[in-house]
Amino acid sequence: MSMSEAGNIKRYTVTSALPYANGPKHIGHLAGAYIPADVYVRFLRLLQKNVVFVCGSDEHGTAIPNQALKEGTTSQAIIDKYHVLIRDCLYQLGISFDIYHRTSEAIHHQTSQEFFLTLFNKGLLTEVTSEQYFDDEVKMFLADRYIVGTCPRCGNPNAYGDQCERCGSTLSPSELINPHSTLSGKAPVLRSTKHWYLPLQDYEPWLREWILKSHEKDWKTNVYGQCKSWIDSGLLPRAMTRDLDWGIKVPLPDAEGKVLYVWFDAPIGYISATRALFSELSEGKKKYSSPQSDFGKVKPDDWKKYWQDPDTKLVHFVGKDNIVFHCIIFPVMLHASEQYILPDNVPANEFMNLEGDKMSTSRGWSIEMHEYIESFPDKPDVLRYALLTNLPETKDSEFTWKDFQSKNNNELVAIFGNFVNRALVLTQKYFDNKVPARGKLSDVDVAVAKAVKEFPGRIGAAIEGYRFREATALMMDLSRTGNKYLAETEPWKIAKTDMERVGTILNLALQISANLAVLTEPFLPFSSRKLKNMLQLKDLLWSDTGSVDLLPDGHALGQSSLLFEKIEDSIIEDQIRKLNEKKMSVEGNTPPGEAPVAKPVKPLKPEVTIDDFSKLDIRIGKVIAAEKMEKSDKLLKLTVNSGLDTRTILSGIAKHFTPEEMVGQQVTFIANLAPRKMMGIESQGMILSAEDKDGKLKLLQPNGEVEPGANVS
Ligand SMILES: [Zn+2]
Repeated sequence: MSMSEAGNIKRYTVTSALPYANGPKHIGHLAGAYIPADVYVRFLRLLQKNVVFVCGSDEHGTAIPNQALKEGTTSQAIIDKYHVLIRDCLYQLGISFDIYHRTSEAIHHQTSQEFFLTLFNKGLLTEVTSEQYFDDEVKMFLADRYIVGTCPRCGNPNAYGDQCERCGSTLSPSELINPHSTLSGKAPVLRSTKHWYLPLQDYEPWLREWILKSHEKDWKTNVYGQCKSWIDSGLLPRAMTRDLDWGIKVPLPDAEGKVLYVWFDAPIGYISATRALFSELSEGKKKYSSPQSDFGKVKPDDWKKYWQDPDTKLVHFVGKDNIVFHCIIFPVMLHASEQYILPDNVPANEFMNLEGDKMSTSRGWSIEMHEYIESFPDKPDVLRYALLTNLPETKDSEFTWKDFQSKNNNELVAIFGNFVNRALVLTQKYFDNKVPARGKLSDVDVAVAKAVKEFPGRIGAAIEGYRFREATALMMDLSRTGNKYLAETEPWKIAKTDMERVGTILNLALQISANLAVLTEPFLPFSSRKLKNMLQLKDLLWSDTGSVDLLPDGHALGQSSLLFEKIEDSIIEDQIRKLNEKKMSVEGNTPPGEAPVAKPVKPLKPEVTIDDFSKLDIRIGKVIAAEKMEKSDKLLKLTVNSGLDTRTILSGIAKHFTPEEMVGQQVTFIANLAPRKMMGIESQGMILSAEDKDGKLKLLQPNGEVEPGANVS
């Protein structure tokens, strides 16, 4: 959105992916879908835009009863426990939802069933009967995760019906050798069952028009690329119902024991949350989260405007694993219903890794939100800042405790905190804690006032373009500008000779601090509040900033204290130790049958000369498109920008990477290998990779971005 288009937009509906209430959520989730959304919404509120920000717990799907089994309790107890844990963490980290709902609420069941019936009554769902595994003992159909058997690829005796966790293969239950039910231990039998499918393939022309044509320019390339790859690889009908006793009942007479597919009902959760919000607002039970966005009296039916009025801008914030659901499946549902608006944008983030490895709660390699809050209860903003400066906006990024410490000590403390503190302490010392008047302005004063004027527009444009890293860097640049101004003018040195000059300098420094108090609110809401209190500054709007007249002469300031505190090495070392201990304790608990087996190292090949080696032309390329090869479960067809040309390379990595994962990856490949035809297609090169201890392939990549075509030497 550019400012000029904003005139047509009457209101905003902003959503963050519903966290799945089967366990705690880690800081990678926070970086993906929550903090960027919160910055965006807080910014819109400061512009006095009409915005609702909704989220809630996703409480259905097979993983909930699965977790209940693991913890020896009921599904209801699981969702109650994790709903509260996740909700409280998100609020404590300042995520300012207008409502944090849950999909177990009656209003959500009703909304989802209505949605299903709308599609059903239009004749848009296809009824299909198929054979599926049934447990005769417990009398239920078995979801993939409830079937365990021997992996046909690696022989792991504990492979699941959908995946082998040892070798990473994607499986279907019928491929397992000696399948048995995890519920009864018995061998399941095949039984026919009926389900309702959404024929996604029928919407392909519409999706091509809507995404590939209309959103080529404004959607992020990682999102657009993944959508394109999905659409190009051919869409298939997808079952919207499941045989399960946990979830939303299918509202049809002949659907005993069937519930809605969790990915059918979860995104509808955004709609039911909005519905619940307006019912609460209209009853006066609740107020909008921000005083800037109180839109007066509302009626319960007002939720419809936020979902059905084309003047509403809908934005979904998600992580990359949810792109397909928010860009393809849910929009098809919305479009097919003929009642709802479509998302204007889905600014999905990639993943954030942790200390050199993928973040994973189950492997114990994670920092859970509640763990962070326990260790740093008074530092929500430090985490927000460390994540914001390092968001995986265009590619995966990495969180390290050392970087966290350095962002705090070298930026928040040394620049922002130091600047504000000097301005406040010197005003206390020389001017009785009241804002001094400005005298005659010198060139350096005029320059700094001019610089301040530029920031609100630049920061705002970055936020509107979903470039939150850039916006955060600009925010820190404003502090840097203030800090540099004080370092250059050195008011503490001229206090003895020219108090009027000191007054001018401190006035400007305090005005910059006041600008910071407002402009940092989307990013660092707790520090912003603290700074407003120190300055005794009332709640201002974004449009007030950019001025050096926010604080009148003689305005009495409040009590100053340090905005941020230095974090010592020992604290950071403690965190790194905790992380390693957690991982070891999780690994120690791995059942013996599943322990990873170390593979023997292959013997050394015969010696070669440097001339032999130099015959190989090894280069770096970038994958611009990827798709599965028909009739092959091993090969991916990659389109690679090699720097020299755009070429096709077939690679036997399909079991290790999905086409979506490959798009945008840098690859190391042999560029002068004789072309080879496989399954009718010529492969023009070979991608290099290495196998990890679990037999999973990892790409060989430079440890930073390099231009396609760069030689490896
Ligand atoms: Zn396997």
